[in-house]
Amino acid sequence: MRVSQFFLSTLKEAPAEAELISHKLMLRAGLIKRLGSGLYTWMPLGLRVLRKIEHIIREEMNRSGALELMMPAIQPAELWQETGRWEVFGPQMLKIQDRHQHDYCFGPTHEEVIADIARREIKSYRQLPLNFYQIQTKFRDEIRPRFGVMRAREFMMKDAYSFHVDLASLEQTYQRMHDTYSRIFSRIGLNFRAVAADTGAMGGSSSHEFHVLAESGEDAIAFCPTSDYAANIELATTMPRGNTRLEPSGAMQKIATPDQKSCPEVAEFLGVPLEQTLKTLAVTANDQFYLLLLRGDHQLNETKVRKIPFLANFELASAEQIIAEIACPPGYLGPVTAKAKIVADKAVLEMSNFVCGANEAGYHLTQVNFGRNLPVPELVFDIRNVVAGDLSPDGKGILEICRGIEVGHIFQLRTKYAEKMQATYLDESGQTKVMEMGCYGIGVSRIVAAAIEQNHDAQGIIFPLSIAPFQLSIIPINYHKSDMIRSEADKLYQACLETGIDVLLDDREERPGVMFADQELIGIPHRLVIGERGLKEGLVEYRGRRDEAPRMLPLKESIAFIT
Ligand code: ATP
Ligand code: MG
Ligand code: MG
Ligand code: MG
Repeated sequence: MRVSQFFLSTLKEAPAEAELISHKLMLRAGLIKRLGSGLYTWMPLGLRVLRKIEHIIREEMNRSGALELMMPAIQPAELWQETGRWEVFGPQMLKIQDRHQHDYCFGPTHEEVIADIARREIKSYRQLPLNFYQIQTKFRDEIRPRFGVMRAREFMMKDAYSFHVDLASLEQTYQRMHDTYSRIFSRIGLNFRAVAADTGAMGGSSSHEFHVLAESGEDAIAFCPTSDYAANIELATTMPRGNTRLEPSGAMQKIATPDQKSCPEVAEFLGVPLEQTLKTLAVTANDQFYLLLLRGDHQLNETKVRKIPFLANFELASAEQIIAEIACPPGYLGPVTAKAKIVADKAVLEMSNFVCGANEAGYHLTQVNFGRNLPVPELVFDIRNVVAGDLSPDGKGILEICRGIEVGHIFQLRTKYAEKMQATYLDESGQTKVMEMGCYGIGVSRIVAAAIEQNHDAQGIIFPLSIAPFQLSIIPINYHKSDMIRSEADKLYQACLETGIDVLLDDREERPGVMFADQELIGIPHRLVIGERGLKEGLVEYRGRRDEAPRMLPLKESIAFIT
């Protein structure tokens, strides 16, 4: 590609709205342009990066035996009503109506649509297992879209869904996806870690996330350097440290510097819709404070227990005080104080509880009593927040904490969707059986931002070679003034194209400094500068994007050097 025929639109300064370095650099390099909140256009330069990531993902997914298909982005409400998620998914789902007043959503994910395909198309155990995937636009009405494409509203996801006769088969594919994801992120050149994770809104049993390690990551990860234990801090556990018995609520004191959250943010953080009844129980253990979240339909199996890291700083005087501290608008929360006993891993926990209700959606909660209106939850793990220096639960070392950007997430959904949607098959003996299901997501567009978080310097982006928009830039000095330079640069450019190198020839009438700055900003890994002095000796100047200094190479060997 010749720069004169391409569209570069680099900026000297990043727009003020950008906080993260990747967001700043993506805007400055002109990879993306903002259309509206959480909505971005992928400009030709940025799209080249996105497509390269998609290409690697496709190759590895195909290699794993998964089959590509493409489902509609717009999904009928009826499917979501079958699984109950039309109500439960919450405000992240963008609901729309057609001209006949039929309800639809813009798909935030595709479990329902694929389960509908499975129940219609899969009849026999002979057809299983199957793993379908797509690379497609998703829409989630994120409460706080930010960091550019890192947390956008419209974004690109690779989502895969597998179907099985039994758990053993699901586990096999789950492991294959785990391996496939590792290959994908390794090929892209990311420094990443797979961690045990919570299943969140998808539900199901086992789950792992893949995190690109970066200080700016929104998630915290606990890992043990001397074993393979690694878990999202939401799920991380530690070897029991002394007594988990709670002090009575009267012993709670002191408010530390609180990280203030609004009620919608709390709901968002918990991944539970605000219109739903949010019943949140405050619990303290070993001087740490947690919330227990109970889903509104009062079923024990819907009970969620989540640790809230941002509240870990809190030690409270009363439930009312927490509510005040989480900065909800007056009247927004209706506190209900109650005392209750919870049996948790044989420890008796004394707790105070309060309830979040969303007046906005016309939901008011009053007189909620623990035990009558609320189920008694079973705590399934040690509820103390894990901190650096804790003993790894495998007993093999000490835990460290680092930060990560979630770029992939795999789940064993088991039969949660298949049961509700009657996705069944006939087994060998002609019996009707419910399918086991897995699902596997990758944040394709988020990877671009995550890769930049890990690979940049003061001059700009340093793309890993595998996803760079161009692999090589040729910068001729005096292209428009010197016939010799022009003819040699054109020849080299042509030779690169023939060799299959993704090359960008800077044939603009610009000062060298401008061309160098652009090449560095947009992160092209290799650079060849053709100048008259070098050329007279048959030399060109080479510089790798990470190199300290340039070096001279024989022009003839330059292509071989790069490939
Ligand atoms: P997060 O915790 O960051 O909100 P999630 O757990 O809600 O992500 P999943 O439902 O697991 O997301 O979706 C699969 C992948 O899609 C995620 O691992 C992430 O890489 C990507 N993703 C999710 N939400 C966004 C978003 N708003 N913008 C860009 N990528 C996203
Ligand atoms: Mg999310
Ligand atoms: Mg997540
Ligand atoms: Mg996730």
